[in-house]
Amino acid sequence: MEIDNYVGWEEWVSLPELNLPALLAKTDTGAETSALHAFNIQTFGKENNQMVRFGINPIDTDDRFSVFCSAKIIDQRNVTSSNGISELRYVIETEIIIGDVKKKIPVTLTNRENMKYKMIIGRSALDGFQISADKSFLQKILSYDLYKKAKNNKYRRSLRIGILSLEPNNYSNRKIIEAAENNGHFCEILNTKRCYLNIESDNPEVHYDGKVLPHYDAIIPRIGPSITKYGMAVVRQFEAMGTFCLNSSSSIGTSRDKLAAHQSLAINRIPMPDTAFANSPRDTDNIIDLAAGAPLVVKLLESSQGKGVILAETKKAASSVISAFQKLNAPFIVQDFVKDANGSDLRLFVIGGKVVASMIRSASDDDFRSNLHAGGKATKAKITLDERKIAKKAAKAMGLNVAGVDILRSNEGPKVLEVNSSPGLQGIESVNTVNVASLIIDYLEKRLGLSKISK
Ligand code: ADP
Repeated sequence: MEIDNYVGWEEWVSLPELNLPALLAKTDTGAETSALHAFNIQTFGKENNQMVRFGINPIDTDDRFSVFCSAKIIDQRNVTSSNGISELRYVIETEIIIGDVKKKIPVTLTNRENMKYKMIIGRSALDGFQISADKSFLQKILSYDLYKKAKNNKYRRSLRIGILSLEPNNYSNRKIIEAAENNGHFCEILNTKRCYLNIESDNPEVHYDGKVLPHYDAIIPRIGPSITKYGMAVVRQFEAMGTFCLNSSSSIGTSRDKLAAHQSLAINRIPMPDTAFANSPRDTDNIIDLAAGAPLVVKLLESSQGKGVILAETKKAASSVISAFQKLNAPFIVQDFVKDANGSDLRLFVIGGKVVASMIRSASDDDFRSNLHAGGKATKAKITLDERKIAKKAAKAMGLNVAGVDILRSNEGPKVLEVNSSPGLQGIESVNTVNVASLIIDYLEKRLGLSKISK
């Protein structure tokens, strides 16, 4: 073969499949296989499809800038480096571009930080090149500015996703896992209660069953009302570690706390039923009047699935419920009963500021609560532009990327009842043709800078 391409002892290369457009590399004819200097090298995936996820600081002068990569493991090899130390390394295969030459090469991963050269190019990658060991940069010179320029719009990789949930096998989790796997990702269900936290300012960690949890590209919190506080702490810890969380800890907290949620809706001028809250028993009459008198709805702040929601038809009934709650020291809100809603409400599913699906939930005959858990039924909904707008605004007011917004249809227009941070998928998917789970994964990919998969 005619050799017409020269490389020096140092060159710029790019690894497009790892989203690394410019890397400073050293050629090393003493090594057969090329190597990348990575950190947090961790394996994931399934037994028959083992992947490796690792970080690279591609810019030798800025060790705070990291790129996370994932690739299929093709082999494991014992490599003895120039200092004589032998180490077992994962081998991946990836495309390298040196000047005008593009080729797939095997690359080993080694945990070495703060090295000027992030890559060592071995003999197998230099096949067809002539090496001038006393010269440098004989190929095209690249620049770190390439990291700032437009994203490589063809870039995709397998994501390692953690789902925080107490119910590994429920419909929503199964659908999310299926959608993620269809797009080449891997999910692991993490039981929120079994996570414990190591709160250190320079090295926050989440532990699980006696081990430190690995790094995830994203966390999907499915935090039920029974463990809101602890769930928020776990999500917060992942945020401190720099992991993208589908809904943030603070947005979960605001939407779950009925009082904070209503205040947030009010600040953003989002219509809702008249609502009052007070702590002192002397205010009972006043609270009832504030909520426009009986009939009214009294709700425990901790209520979920309609379990702590009571309809008081008369003022007398309202006062007894209120004083009972006060005696129990159970915080509650008092709300105008929206009779026109006729025992049904509207659930709008919002992902990334867009309404992607909706349903009407109707209460069973003898109830005013339409929660599906309380025996309500889901049917297809035709929603108005106004309802769509209000749902988007409500999700935004809570700061939720994924939200189920519940709206009551009243004669005065739509009124927001609640914004749910872990909306279930079963009801909504049963009356819509869209695959909501796959839209969640698409949104997550977009946030992590992956290009769209062509389906
Ligand atoms: P939870 O968080 O326990 O589900 P909600 O506030 O969502 O509590 O109330 C449960 C159900 O009760 C709603 O889905 C709705 O059907 C009914 N409901 C709640 N508040 C009102 C109200 N102010 N007027 C009419 N119906 C209501």
